[in-house]
Amino acid sequence: MRLCVNLISKSMEYIFAFLAWTFCLYWIHRVGHKTPVVKTAHHDHHKFINIHGKTKWHWNNLFLFNDTWTSTADLWITEVIPTLIFSWVTGHWWISVFYYLWAALIQEVVEHNPKFSLYPFLTSGKWHLVHHRDPGKNFGLFIPVWDILFKTYKPYAS
Ligand SMILES: [Zn+2]
Ligand SMILES: [Zn+2]
Repeated sequence: MRLCVNLISKSMEYIFAFLAWTFCLYWIHRVGHKTPVVKTAHHDHHKFINIHGKTKWHWNNLFLFNDTWTSTADLWITEVIPTLIFSWVTGHWWISVFYYLWAALIQEVVEHNPKFSLYPFLTSGKWHLVHHRDPGKNFGLFIPVWDILFKTYKPYAS
């Protein structure tokens, strides 16, 4: 019984940490769109995707380098550094490991892939590309919950 209670409370803690982390990333992305220096770097990412369309995996991704130096600065400002700070503050280092595996191996393959959709389990692909066409919508990384809650949600046309 005690093991069961421990297991439930541990999983609740992990789910809560994941939600809190995605909440931070949502607001950093959303506020970043209106913050001078971040905006410049982030707009380079938007421009790159709008010109080149989908991205491919490249060994540079292993060093969390994406597309261009400015897009990489954007990735570090809006995702990598906030994730490390989040892990440091909460002690949930598994989130940084999870994020590294995602950013180094998967993100460039699925995030801007117009054929990809695992919605509502993952906001990559079709759903995230709505954000590139309409930058006031769909800020969420991984889950759409915060966009739904804060009314920035926009479905993609299938
Ligand atoms: Zn993007
Ligand atoms: Zn954006």
